[in-house]
Amino acid sequence: MADKRDYYEVLGVSRDVSADELKKVYRSLARKYHPDLHPDDPTAEEKFKEITEAYEVLSDPEKRQVYDQYGHEGLENGGMGPGAGGFSDVSEILESIFGSFGGFGGSRMNAANAPHRGRDIQTSITLDFMEAVNGKSQTVTVQRMENCPECRGTGSAGGAESEICPNCQGRGNVKATQRTPFGMISSSKPCPTCGGKGKVIKNPCRKCSGIGRLRVEKPIPLNIPAGIDDGQRLQVPGQGDVGVNGGPNGDLFVLINVRPHPLYTRDGFDIHCEIPITFAQAVLGDEIVVPTVDGNVKYRIGEGTQTGTIFRLRGKGVRRPNRSDRGDQYVRVNIEVPKGLNKHQKELIQQLEASLESKNYAKRETFFSKLKDLFKGPGSDDDKK
Ligand SMILES: [Zn+2]
Ligand SMILES: [Zn+2]
Repeated sequence: MADKRDYYEVLGVSRDVSADELKKVYRSLARKYHPDLHPDDPTAEEKFKEITEAYEVLSDPEKRQVYDQYGHEGLENGGMGPGAGGFSDVSEILESIFGSFGGFGGSRMNAANAPHRGRDIQTSITLDFMEAVNGKSQTVTVQRMENCPECRGTGSAGGAESEICPNCQGRGNVKATQRTPFGMISSSKPCPTCGGKGKVIKNPCRKCSGIGRLRVEKPIPLNIPAGIDDGQRLQVPGQGDVGVNGGPNGDLFVLINVRPHPLYTRDGFDIHCEIPITFAQAVLGDEIVVPTVDGNVKYRIGEGTQTGTIFRLRGKGVRRPNRSDRGDQYVRVNIEVPKGLNKHQKELIQQLEASLESKNYAKRETFFSKLKDLFKGPGSDDDKK
């Protein structure tokens, strides 16, 4: 009990506040902190309960007197804790603000009048490889719900104010009284005339049939960041369906497809490519031309470059979003074995081969010596000393 805040402090009122003033303050705080208005804020419900409890006590003259004299403990000891019965117009106040389900402690606000977030919508676009690497501004056309321009979202022809429902006097709910063996039981249910909205539209807007919203085609400008990749989703906040009853708009999600590139493949922010080189280039070394996303660059391959060798060009990959550094480019060189040689060319190759010694073929040398060891095996005569 000791950590309970002072009720006057909770409501932000002075100790000599009048009953009328108290009611006004509570109404405005309830409007502000109702948990249904803050679905993402877990503290809203706590806050709402706190102000409601404070109001319940201070609005009851008997409880207020005990509280003023003895504080929270006095109420507890006197059996006057929150919810201990007695006078309270909390549910009446909440009903008048939120409709029939405005009570606190489990019941929810009238769904027909509650603010709803608009739905998220999704679309997809296809980019070239280089567009994804460099980023791009592009407009995409989506279908989404917007407030009807004709009635400005009211659903009422000419945007006229809708009228208070005559059946429920704007409460959105009606009381149903039932006679039972235990006496009269009264409950409330959503008003059938206005569907719980508390308002009726006399003259519905013809463009939207009184709904207030329309599905429209809308061009949305996109800023596609450099470095985006195939399969990623771009989130564009607030560009989905319009919210209802003052709720926020949904978001737009754009699925990104990237066309394959004839030379490059991507692995995160690194780019890979393969370059065929000739037998002579591999043997003698050469300066080769390597295509990069920045244009062609020259690269010196060394004498005796083996097929499948991969070299790295630092910083020639894809830019990382919101960062200045880039991935790398990996280039794999493959020796293309010449085909379709004529007789003379074949003779030249034979001459060359005949002139080469085993030291020119280090890998073959290692391979055949391992092979020999394998066939010799343990226990053969050669192993005996
Ligand atoms: Zn309309
Ligand atoms: Zn009604």
